[in-house]
Amino acid sequence: MRILLLDIETAPHKVYSWGIWNQDINPDNIIEQGYTLSWAAKWYGQKQVMYNSIHDSSRKKMVREIYALICDADAIVHYNGTKFDMPILNQEFLFDSLDPPTSYANIDLLKTARKQFRLPSNKLDYVAQYLGLGSKFKHKGMSLWHDCMDGCPKAWAIMKRYNKQDVNLTEKVYEVLLPWIDNHPNWGHFVDGQRLTCRNCGSDRVKKNGIERKTTVPYQRYRCQKCGAPLKGRTMLKDQPQPSTR
Ligand SMILES: [Zn+2]
Repeated sequence: MRILLLDIETAPHKVYSWGIWNQDINPDNIIEQGYTLSWAAKWYGQKQVMYNSIHDSSRKKMVREIYALICDADAIVHYNGTKFDMPILNQEFLFDSLDPPTSYANIDLLKTARKQFRLPSNKLDYVAQYLGLGSKFKHKGMSLWHDCMDGCPKAWAIMKRYNKQDVNLTEKVYEVLLPWIDNHPNWGHFVDGQRLTCRNCGSDRVKKNGIERKTTVPYQRYRCQKCGAPLKGRTMLKDQPQPSTR
C-alpha cells in the first residue's frame, strides 16, 4: 500500500471589515482570496520529506507536483485533512482544470483522536506532546504568514521547517494511533497469498484472540503482534479462517 503523509500551509483571505469581532463578511469584501502557500509530504517508510511552495517554484508547478503524488497514493494520512487539506488541494486542482485525482483512502488522524479518546485538546501539537512524540516547530505566530505573503526569504525558510515538521509529527502520531484506526484501508488487499494479514499494518504476525459473538454467527478474533490492532476473521467460525481481518 502506498501511504502518503501530507500537510499544507495556506494564506488567509484578505478582506475589508468594519469591525474585528464576530464579523459576517460579505464575499464582495474579499480583496484577495486565500491560497495554498506550500505543501510537505512523505511516503510512509521513506526518509525524505518532500516540499514545495509558491516561494520555491511557481504556483502551477507546486500544484502539479502534489497532484502527481496524490495520484500515486493508495492512502493519504493527514491531520484534519478531510475537512482542510484535501478540499483545498481539490480546489487548486479544479482551478487548474485538472481531473479529480485517482481515488485514495483518507486516514484522518484527527477523526481517530476524536472518536477514540477524550483529550482536552485534539490539536496535533497537543496530541503529539501528550504521547511524548515531540511538538510542532515553534514560530512567532501569525506574523510569519504575513512575512511569507510579503515574500521575506527568512520567513519562508521557517515556513518550510514548520511544514515539514508537521509531516514528521503526523507520521509519529500515525504509528502510535495505528492500532486504534478502526477504518484503516485493509492491508490484506495488498498482500499476495492466503496468509492472515493485519488490516492496519500488513504484518502476518497475528494470533488468535478469542471469539467474537456480537451476532448469531461467531467469528474468530485475532490480535496483531506487531501493531496491536484487534482484528476479526472474515469468515464464520465453522469455516476455515481466511486471510484478513476485522
Ligand atoms: Zn498490525
